[in-house]
Amino acid sequence: MTMQIQAANKPMFPNANRRAFKPKPACGIRGLLLPLALPLLVFSAAGQPAAGKPPPAPPNIIVILTDDQGYHDVGFNGCRDIPTPNLDSIAANGVRFPNGYVSYSVCSPSRAGLLTGRYEQRFGHERNPRFEPENPRSGLPLSESTLADVLGRVGYQSGIIGKWHLGAHPDLHPLNRGFNGFFGMLGGGHRYFPEELTLKTTGDAGDEAASYRLQILRDHTPVRTTQYLTDEFSDEAVRFVERHKDRPFFLYLAYNAPHTPLQATEKYLGRFPNIKNPKRRTYAAMVSAVDDGVGRLLAKLREQGIEENTLVFYLSDNGGPTDANASNNDPLRGSKGTPWEGGWRVPFAAQWPGHLPQGRVYEPPVTSLDIFATAAALAAAPVDPSRPLDGVNLVPFLTGEQTGVPHETIYLRMYDRGAFAVRSGAFKLVIPQSGSAPQLFNLAADAGESSDLAGAHPEQLARLEERRAAWNTQLVAPVFDGLLSPKQRSKTATPAEEVDP
Ligand code: CA
Repeated sequence: MTMQIQAANKPMFPNANRRAFKPKPACGIRGLLLPLALPLLVFSAAGQPAAGKPPPAPPNIIVILTDDQGYHDVGFNGCRDIPTPNLDSIAANGVRFPNGYVSYSVCSPSRAGLLTGRYEQRFGHERNPRFEPENPRSGLPLSESTLADVLGRVGYQSGIIGKWHLGAHPDLHPLNRGFNGFFGMLGGGHRYFPEELTLKTTGDAGDEAASYRLQILRDHTPVRTTQYLTDEFSDEAVRFVERHKDRPFFLYLAYNAPHTPLQATEKYLGRFPNIKNPKRRTYAAMVSAVDDGVGRLLAKLREQGIEENTLVFYLSDNGGPTDANASNNDPLRGSKGTPWEGGWRVPFAAQWPGHLPQGRVYEPPVTSLDIFATAAALAAAPVDPSRPLDGVNLVPFLTGEQTGVPHETIYLRMYDRGAFAVRSGAFKLVIPQSGSAPQLFNLAADAGESSDLAGAHPEQLARLEERRAAWNTQLVAPVFDGLLSPKQRSKTATPAEEVDP
């Protein structure tokens, strides 16, 4: 923990003066004054500009999150049947992370980690919540701050477009979690054709499946959309950039594609006459629609002249559920909802022209938790020391200003399944489910986790097991029910809720 806290608070610039946060107008926030609040007095600075230099402008932050996209299903990871030139351009213009992880292998916990910069197992967000608009505990605990909360304190405007999935109760609504604008849905997925969005008010949806038919919300108001949903979100993202181009912004573009239901329009299906598997063909069309939208968004950044002042992250929220949506996690083992690499290692890239190297492949493991720490450091945004981050600012590692690796160890726990994964260097410990013996793999030689080395390297197994046990003592049990009742959960080793949504 101590190491993690220090790393999270490392200044962005090596010559920066380490000093306690003092309430004053934020440096370089383009004339915006820092809204002061008494609790900030105890916060520490996540990053400070170097003394004697003009303060750097805080960059805009865009996080493009896809849903259930397979590790292999992007051109920069080797995909050949689904062209993704625009997603590939992020890697070509910036950095590709072949060992990029999320913090959970299903949707909602992964998003809770991403938006808090903390292992969600620390605060009990370890299940997909039920769609319960009347239950304020069914979602991201109010004890946690989101990246939008933190960036908002230094003048950023934050918008979320797409899937929230961190609670349907009004207290948990994005506008109460730091975001200034919302265009999307509160639940864990959605139908894509506008004529199928027949339910108007949140109360009309009695459960998660019904919530897929709710009209899209603009802030709190249901609106009648007219386009294929992925296109709606892409257009809204372009408009968001147009509206916010003159001030620092955080855009969280959380596509629900290519999560089920598998639905696409002829415009995109027609691009894949050679894919014979109808599931894979529709999945390909859904990914292609996302890629088109990302292309429009990136073009808008260039058109507005803010490409070099905008850090863009792209990743999937978990590995592909290969049976459900015909995604492909090659060469990784397993899929969504598992502790195998195919569950939580995802397509992952970032660009920030002029600041990050171009076309670099960064091999050491990184995690979605690093996005929060990186953004907070670049914005010089104070982070509550009572909620220490698990991520680190990646920028100095990517530029070479800082040597070593961002993480000595990365962890996963899946409470209901009794599963764990611990990665340190090339080695990975896996406990597939409660009661099973720990297994050990050398991912450098065996990315597909086919050869258990537990017997051959007992010292490595013991080292990782010791870390797993120590980390586990820092975690709590889930604080809200998932989609299955405890009775249902006890009957299955792989709860259905962990597969879909
Ligand atoms: Ca997902």
